[in-house]
Amino acid sequence: MPPHAHSLGSDVTPNSAGGLLLANAQIFDGAKAELAHGDVLIRDGAIVDVSTRALAVDHARRIDVGGRTLMPGLIDAHFHAYATSRSVSEIDATHPVLRAHRARPLLENALRRGFTTVRDAAGADSGLARAVDEGLIDGPRIFFGGKALTQTGGHGDMRDADAACGCNSLGLTQIVDGADAVRLAAREELRRGAHQIKIFVSGGVVSPTDPIWMDQFSDDEIRAAVEEAATRRAYVLAHAYTARSIRRSVALGVRSIEHANLIDRETAKFVADRGAFVDPTLVTYDAMRGSNEGLLPQSLAKLREVEGAGLQAVAYCHEAGVRLGFGTDLLGDLHRHQSHEFVLRAKVQAPLDVLRSATSINAELLQQQGKLGTIAPGAIADLLVVDGNPLEDIALLERHESLPFILKAGRIVRDELSAKASEVPAG
Ligand SMILES: [Zn+2]
Repeated sequence: MPPHAHSLGSDVTPNSAGGLLLANAQIFDGAKAELAHGDVLIRDGAIVDVSTRALAVDHARRIDVGGRTLMPGLIDAHFHAYATSRSVSEIDATHPVLRAHRARPLLENALRRGFTTVRDAAGADSGLARAVDEGLIDGPRIFFGGKALTQTGGHGDMRDADAACGCNSLGLTQIVDGADAVRLAAREELRRGAHQIKIFVSGGVVSPTDPIWMDQFSDDEIRAAVEEAATRRAYVLAHAYTARSIRRSVALGVRSIEHANLIDRETAKFVADRGAFVDPTLVTYDAMRGSNEGLLPQSLAKLREVEGAGLQAVAYCHEAGVRLGFGTDLLGDLHRHQSHEFVLRAKVQAPLDVLRSATSINAELLQQQGKLGTIAPGAIADLLVVDGNPLEDIALLERHESLPFILKAGRIVRDELSAKASEVPAG
C-alpha cells in the first residue's frame, strides 16, 4: 500500500450491518442542476444506494432529512493547516509540535463548516494527515504535499531581507535552487507520501522581497518537479499570479494553477485547451484587506495589486471553459472566513457552478473523481444537509445553523435532525 493511501478509507467508521439511511432528501449530486428527491443508504463509510424511491432497509438507522438538501461534503483545494498565525515569520519560529497542536482547531472548525476534505497547499505532512485519520483531530481528511518548493528569494522564502542572519528554518516551505535540488526535494516529499507537489512560479503577497511580476524557478526546475510528480501519478500545483507565469507553468505540465488573479482571456483559453485547472482563492484578499494587521507594508501594496483583479480572473476562466476549483488560502484567525468564498465567487458565477467547483470539480482536481465530491454508489459517504436550497441561496453555506447534519466517511459529525425529530412528542 502506498504511504499516502491512509487518507482515504481508514477513517471510515463501520456502521451496524444495516447501515444508515438518509431518507426524504432533495439530492444535489455535486454536478447535475436538478435536485432529485430520494433516499441514500450508507454502509461501512461508503454510499451503497441512491434511490428516487423510498428505500426500506432492515436494521438500518433511519434519519429523515425532511425534504432538505443533501449534498456532497465540501472540498477546499487551497487550505493551510499549519498557517496558525497571520504572520508567516511567527509560524516559522514555532516549534513543529506546537504548530501541529495549533492546527487542530483550524481543521476541526473547517469540518464543522462542512469541509470534509482539504488539500493543503504548503506544510502539511503525513503526521498531520494521520492524526486526522486516527481520530486524534476531528477534521477533514488532508491531501498534503509536504513543504512547498521555492527558489531563493521566491514567494516561499519568507526571510526578511534586512534580517541579521539568512538562516533557513521555514515551517511551510523549503528553499531549493537548481533542477537537481528541486528533483531531490520532490522525491523526498513524494517518498513521505505527498499527494501533490507545490511550487511557486511568481511573486506573492505575504512574502517580503519578491514583486508580484517576478518569474520564479527556471523552466528546468519546473520541469523537474512535474517529472517527479508524474512518476508517482501525482501532479504539481503552482502558485502563479501573472498571465505569463500561468502560461509558462501550464506549458511545462503543471496541472493546478493557484490564485491566477492576473490571468487574461488568451491565457485562460490556453489553460482550458491544456485541460489544466485554476483554483481561485478570493476570500484571502477580502479577509486580509478587512483586517490587515500583521501584514508588512510591502505586502499591503501587493494585496491592492491582485485583489481588484480576482473576480475578473474567475470570469475570464469561466468564459474560456477552464475547470475552476475552489480554494480559500486563509492564514491564522482569518480561517473563520472560509465559507465566505462561496458568496464572493457567486458574484461572477451561478451558485450551481460554484457548488460544482467545491465538490465534483475539486474531487477531479484531487484525482478522486467518483470517490469524493459526489453522491453515487461507491463514493465515500461525506455528506451535508443544508436547510434550504444552496443552488438558490449559496450564502446558506456560510451559516452554521443552516448545516444541521454533517457526515464524514459515514461517521456523524453533527446531527441536529435526530435531536429535532425526537423533540416531537409521540402520539
Ligand atoms: Zn496559499
